[in-house]
Amino acid sequence: MIKQIRKYAQEHQLTWDVKSNFAYGKYNGQAIGIWETNDQYLPAGNQPVRALKIAHVVKIWATTDDPMVIGTIQGYLQQMPGKVEFLQQTSYDGKLITAFFVTGGSGWAKRYTAAIDVFLRDVTNLCASYTVTTGCEFCKAPDQLGLYQINQVPYLVCPNCVQEVNQQASQSKAQFQAQGQGNVLSGIVGACLGALLGVVLWVIIYQLGYISMIGALALVVCAFKGYEVMGGHMTKLGIFICCVVSVIMLLFAEQICVALLIYDAFHAEEGISFFDAFRAVPYFLMEAEVLKAVLPDVLLGGLCVIGCGIERGIRVYKDRTGAVATRMITRFKN
Ligand SMILES: [Zn+2]
Repeated sequence: MIKQIRKYAQEHQLTWDVKSNFAYGKYNGQAIGIWETNDQYLPAGNQPVRALKIAHVVKIWATTDDPMVIGTIQGYLQQMPGKVEFLQQTSYDGKLITAFFVTGGSGWAKRYTAAIDVFLRDVTNLCASYTVTTGCEFCKAPDQLGLYQINQVPYLVCPNCVQEVNQQASQSKAQFQAQGQGNVLSGIVGACLGALLGVVLWVIIYQLGYISMIGALALVVCAFKGYEVMGGHMTKLGIFICCVVSVIMLLFAEQICVALLIYDAFHAEEGISFFDAFRAVPYFLMEAEVLKAVLPDVLLGGLCVIGCGIERGIRVYKDRTGAVATRMITRFKN
């Protein structure tokens, strides 16, 4: 957490949970929290904001069933982003007020927490003039609330909702396990077909003179997509297969690129075909100078494939298992 927010939290007797990057407590008698994130976050009913800078989601828990109150608070929040500096988005759904603050601009550090404070003061004052309570931000239940970190994001929720989140997670995990290995053989064919498409992209990108990074990414993405489409779904074994196929196809792509160079150099004088050039690649690679020129490309490309493969694999696997990490930050005291 940035030091400005840490200081602000200290000044306002907020508790700082280091693990979740979250400061929480009471402000003006109202339960609030400030969560630091540099990732994409979607406040309910809003367009996604891509915050490549450090950003903060300010949460104010304010439960009510009165449509008039909801409308008034929503109307008030809507006009705030133009008035409060750093404030990009706000939302309210009768359960939770969220505000999305993004750092940046010259000298922002000096004005940032002051802007957050203006927001918190105005909105908690507004809430105080109506009857709003603190409830579960999923279902409005008022009792036995706890602050939980669910998939990195902090929420104030009731035991039922936590149980439901955990149940859904274990259900999707069970579903995933019940699927078994899928069709591995079809998967391999799919990965190869996908990677072949990737090879074409690689060669085109190479001809355009771009670095192998983009080509490697295209190759891996194609291999994974191919495996998933033909094999049914991704598994640990599938991830491993896709990486192996990608590396083999990378070598193949590089061989085509070298063959194209040979073809260009000797086609006019010696009248060789592309196929001749392709077959001649191993002989040319025995020349130290040619090898020296090709090796960095292959190594860099190989590293890219492995890097992309691991990253892609982790992501696909997480999606499939529906792994949800739930951790209680603290029990909520009213
Ligand atoms: Zn609930």
